[in-house]
Amino acid sequence: EGPGGAEPGPEDLPGAVAAEAPVPVVAVVGRPNVGKSMLVNRILGRREAVVEDVPGVTRDRVPYDASWRGRRFTLVDTGGWVADASGLEAMVANQAELAVATADVVLFVVDATVGLTDADEAVTRVLRRSDRPVVLAANKVDGAHNEADAYALWNLSVGEPYPVSALHGRGSGDLLDAVLRALPDAPPERIETEPGGPHRVALLGRPNVGKSSLLNRLAGEDRVVVDSVAGTTRDPVDELIELDGRTYVFIDTAGIRRRYRELQGADYYATMRTMTALERAETAVVLFDVSEPLTDADIRVVNQVVDAGRGLVLAFNKWDVLDDDRRYYLEREIDRQLSRVSWAPRVNLSARTGRRVERLSTAIEQSLAGWSTRISTGPLNTWLKEVVAATPPPVRGGRQPKILFITQASTRPPHFVLFTTGFLEENYRRFLERRLRESFSFEGTPIHLTMRIRE
Ligand code: GDP
Repeated sequence: EGPGGAEPGPEDLPGAVAAEAPVPVVAVVGRPNVGKSMLVNRILGRREAVVEDVPGVTRDRVPYDASWRGRRFTLVDTGGWVADASGLEAMVANQAELAVATADVVLFVVDATVGLTDADEAVTRVLRRSDRPVVLAANKVDGAHNEADAYALWNLSVGEPYPVSALHGRGSGDLLDAVLRALPDAPPERIETEPGGPHRVALLGRPNVGKSSLLNRLAGEDRVVVDSVAGTTRDPVDELIELDGRTYVFIDTAGIRRRYRELQGADYYATMRTMTALERAETAVVLFDVSEPLTDADIRVVNQVVDAGRGLVLAFNKWDVLDDDRRYYLEREIDRQLSRVSWAPRVNLSARTGRRVERLSTAIEQSLAGWSTRISTGPLNTWLKEVVAATPPPVRGGRQPKILFITQASTRPPHFVLFTTGFLEENYRRFLERRLRESFSFEGTPIHLTMRIRE
């Protein structure tokens, strides 16, 4: 069977693993005292003591996890942003600019009972200049008696005013529906394979590290019968493997069992095959042969896993033939060549003797847990504040970028977005990633950290 044979391509394969849809950001802007905080609390469904807007005073946390009709979003109360500008109008304009630069949707709050002020106009000018969708909340419309106040706000020319009472909740449903309509379309979530079914693992490694030996060892005598696992439909190239009482789908094992391409020594096909397997896998076990020095081919496989954003377990095979001498060099090779993935759990095993192969299960579970971890916005921003206070981002071109807040946009793998007023150096982002790993558990998973910048 050659490369052009009946092997399925990536697009034919069932069960491609999709990352969770990113969580969009909604920023609440408006001059002080229009009721932004109360509206935020209303949307969050809380009944907390409301801190009224005091110019220049920083609130504790600005972003919150919110949802409406099952759609999640991050709600940012810009009242907490320290503005450099002095004067009310400049301050609100500044906050609106940050909101426009960082948010997907801007929720502009006006006090309908007061009508338009210069500060409202200042916000409006900023909003009109940008193409960010705006939802206009005409707050303090507590009853039908002052609904007409809201309609006067059509004059702002930023769209339909939604009358709302943050105090009583009146109109907040319609307002939130409007916010949902303004959100960017969620990418259609590809149906994940067999929800609640076995997790999908790719067993990878360059030729001769012992993949088929390990697979045979794992499959052993107690091969799980396909039909006995409820709700399992599997590709014929996959294999159900039971490990330490848990069942996994090992992806594309045909490629391991029939080693025609590897025997041809075709790097290209090996790489393609790995990519195809990763497309469908949640986590990968990369196998190494400890009897030989690590090679570029080994590292290439590891990089493919990280680049594909999959969980990673490092398995060091042929431990039965490891002597002290080789062991010394192995540790140094690992330190030097695998430092990029120092977060990956390791298992030292022997496919031949069966030593510690059952440990793979613990490592795979760790990696899957890290890969799916979500940190809620509150603790995440408390963490950020502490880290940034202790180690602020370096000054660049005479300016110190401010980090406004952080959200976790998605999981599988964890993806964080930093909202900043300037570019953060690679070094500083790596520092933040290290601290994230120290503070929260992200064992066995790559982390993505990106920025949304208003330069
Ligand atoms: P694959 O190409 O990655 O599937 O590697 P194979 O499973 O075919 O193994 C390559 C060679 O390594 C074979 O000669 C195996 O017998 C040998 N091998 C595999 N696992 C072990 C192990 O744990 N210890 C030792 N000593 N040899 C092993």
